[in-house]
Amino acid sequence: MRAHLGAFIVRGNYTEQTFLKLLDEIAKCSLYYVILFIKYDKSIEEKVFFQCLIENPKIKSIILYGAPSDKIFATIDEKPVILAIKDYLEFGKTYIDINYFRVGSNSFYESLNYNYGLNQKLFIDSLGDIFLSFGFPIKIGNLFNDKIEEILSNEKVKEFWKVTKDDVFICDNCEYRYMCFDEGELVRINAKYKKKVECPYNPFISKWDYQEGYMNLNECGIYIQNDKLVIDENRLNHINEELYT
Ligand code: SF4
Repeated sequence: MRAHLGAFIVRGNYTEQTFLKLLDEIAKCSLYYVILFIKYDKSIEEKVFFQCLIENPKIKSIILYGAPSDKIFATIDEKPVILAIKDYLEFGKTYIDINYFRVGSNSFYESLNYNYGLNQKLFIDSLGDIFLSFGFPIKIGNLFNDKIEEILSNEKVKEFWKVTKDDVFICDNCEYRYMCFDEGELVRINAKYKKKVECPYNPFISKWDYQEGYMNLNECGIYIQNDKLVIDENRLNHINEELYT
């Protein structure tokens, strides 16, 4: 399990003054590391980001999203610390992608007991508002008005940190559940949870939505009724036979 807290900040359309104030608050609070996600802007020179990293030791990496191409600008110990990605990130949307999965003993053991995408992380937006994650837009405080320590002792926050993929319908059938970095919104159904938005991967047919032959859960005869997973076995077997024989 990670021993410290991580935070993510997206720099949207806000002023340099607000940005500097956020950095100042982060420097003072107990966050251990910060990853900045900043909208790519070709008018901002690279040296500004190098300076940002040097002057703010808690900022461990800067990701420029919505860039014209993927590019690594700087690495430390072979890990990229300033990089541009083509993806355009939208707040409240989850990005479940096999390329973001983490394979290793740390992620495996953490995933057994915690939600790997949410555990010990916070997302802070351009106004200092704090959310459970980038893809889970439930507001849990504000960096300027609340103490981070109090937010961390909030039972609602801790509840979601502890929801493993084995506690989530559909994910509990997925072979990626101990490496998946999904940090999307969860909805409680009695003793279990379900994802608010269906994952682009359907583990019952081992297909991503961009692959040939993909069908969503409903099309495969799979749905959640009350607090039970219902599977139309005949239909699912027929689909898998068509796909793989
Ligand atoms: S089904 Fe669940 S565990 Fe599998 S890839 Fe999707 S979000 Fe991750």
